Formats: sequence, structure tokens, C-alpha cells
Amino acid sequence: MFYDLHTHTTASDGILTPLEIVDHALKAGLNGLAITDHDTINGLDKALKYKEQNNIPVDVIPGIEMNTDYDNEEIHILGYFVDYYNKRLVERLDEIKEARYERASKMIIKLKKLGFSLEFEEVKRIAHDDLIGRPHIAQALIQKGYVFSIKEAFTKYIGKGKPAYIPRYKFLPEEAINLIKTSGGISILAHPGLINDQKLIDNVIKMGIEGIEVFYPEHSNEQINKYLMLTTKNHLLVTGGSDFHGLESEKSRGKLGAAGIGDNYMQEIYNYKNRKTLK
Ligand code: AMP
Ligand code: FE
Ligand code: FE
Ligand code: ZN
Repeated sequence: MFYDLHTHTTASDGILTPLEIVDHALKAGLNGLAITDHDTINGLDKALKYKEQNNIPVDVIPGIEMNTDYDNEEIHILGYFVDYYNKRLVERLDEIKEARYERASKMIIKLKKLGFSLEFEEVKRIAHDDLIGRPHIAQALIQKGYVFSIKEAFTKYIGKGKPAYIPRYKFLPEEAINLIKTSGGISILAHPGLINDQKLIDNVIKMGIEGIEVFYPEHSNEQINKYLMLTTKNHLLVTGGSDFHGLESEKSRGKLGAAGIGDNYMQEIYNYKNRKTLK
């Protein structure tokens, strides 16, 4: 049994629609997947209804990945089993979506000043009129032939500190953790191996995180062991996922199922969830 608990769809910056990713998970031989789009829950209902109506034998776990900033670093917080009708969650995500539109349009103004011809509407279209992230701006720059790759777009123009960079709205890991918890979800620290200052992980644990994404395509065996020990020491859940974004090699951290967890860890997550619901 294998579960990939970190995937993206067209609701954020993935290539497959929420329906396609469920089909793809079945084909890839997964027992379950969590859909964890950046700062949006818009794909969840579609995927769950599709699975139900067609009796697809794949466990679809509603999730989210919140991009937060802390001490000059990007910290990503995953939320599993969030109630995506929760009023506070929906309102905050709407605010974030609007703030991202504003930020994208400011970044496009900067890119225009650098001599690129690029319109907000073009980027919005690439983002399927949904959540806009820097990867969409990068994609627009590729389409127009200004850069060859997403990486090049970040390194030259839209990465932190580069000429067209604008910081995100203020959103702290602590708020993300609390928002996930108040909407009935379980909060998990995503890909800790990508954090430069590993000391920050202890602070995130103190904020009340409930688990760590131990298994991730870019984690070395050494990192996996280190994070496993950390979960044992702090009584945290163990999760894993591929961060699948799509079929193009560059957009995807890993193939669907490239990382994940087996039934033992999945059962622990379900047990934890059930204990929480009973409380
Ligand atoms: P945003 O939330 O709009 O600031 O975009 C952040 C997203 O951009 C991250 O989740 C990554 O997927 C992607 N990203 C950040 N830095 C890079 C980079 N250097 N190269 C490629 N993708 C990146
Ligand atoms: Fe992404
Ligand atoms: Fe992430
Ligand atoms: Zn992700």
C-alpha cells in the first residue's frame, strides 16, 4: 500500500486537473493521494466528487500547502483533511488570492520596466484564472521566449532579491498552522530539507506543528533518518509525498508516487485524526 501525500493540480501550479490527477494516481498504482495545492482548496471538491461518482479505488485526501515566510525563509505548511467549507479558511484564502493578484501585477510592471512585453491577463490565463504564483509568471516568460526555463526566470528576474521580485503578503507559519487546525485539519511541516536554517524547524515544532514530511524526493537518506528521529522525539506524525506538479520534468519535483508513505504511517495519521474528532 502506498500513499503520495503531496501533489499539485491546475488549481495552483500543477499541469493535471483535479480529475486527471485522480486517474493518474490509479494508473500509477497508488492506494491514495493527497491534493495539496498552494494556498487554494479549489480543486478538492471536484476531485472528491469525481472519485465518489466513478467509484475510483483511490483514497483522495483533501489538503492544502500554505506558503509562509519566517525569518527570511520560505516555510511550507501542509494541511490534511481541512474542512474546505470552513468560513475563516475560505475568507483568508480569498484574501491571499487577491493579494497574489496585486503582487503579480506589480511584478509585471517591474518586468515591463525591464523591457519585457507581458500583460497581467496573459499570466492570469496561464494560472487558469485561479491562484497566481511566481511559477506562472515564469511560464509566461518562457512562452514569450524571454527565458528557456523556470529556473532561469527565477535566477535572473523573479527570485528573491532579483530585479522583478516583490515579496508576498505577510503570512506566518504560526497562522497557517492555526488556520489548518481551526478548520479541522492536521498541520505538517513540508519538505524540511529545503530549509536553509535547520534551527527554524525547532521553532515550527514549538508553534504546534503535528507532523513532518519526512519522505520527499530531494531528501537524502541521512536527512530522512534525522527527521524520523525528530518525529519520534517530539511525538509527531510522519508523512511523505512527491510534490508532483505535472508531467514536464522541470515542473515536477518528482513523478507521482516518487515519495510517500506505506499503510503503517497512513494508519497512524487516521488514528490521530479519529482521536482528534472524538475530542
Ligand atoms: P510564490 O508563492 O508565488 O512566491 O512562488 C513560490 C513557488 O515558486 C515555490 O512553491 C516553488 O514551487 C517555486 N520556486 C521558488 N523558487 C524557485 C526556483 N529558484 N526555481 C524554480 N521554482 C522556484
Ligand atoms: Fe508549486
Ligand atoms: Fe512546497
Ligand atoms: Zn508542493
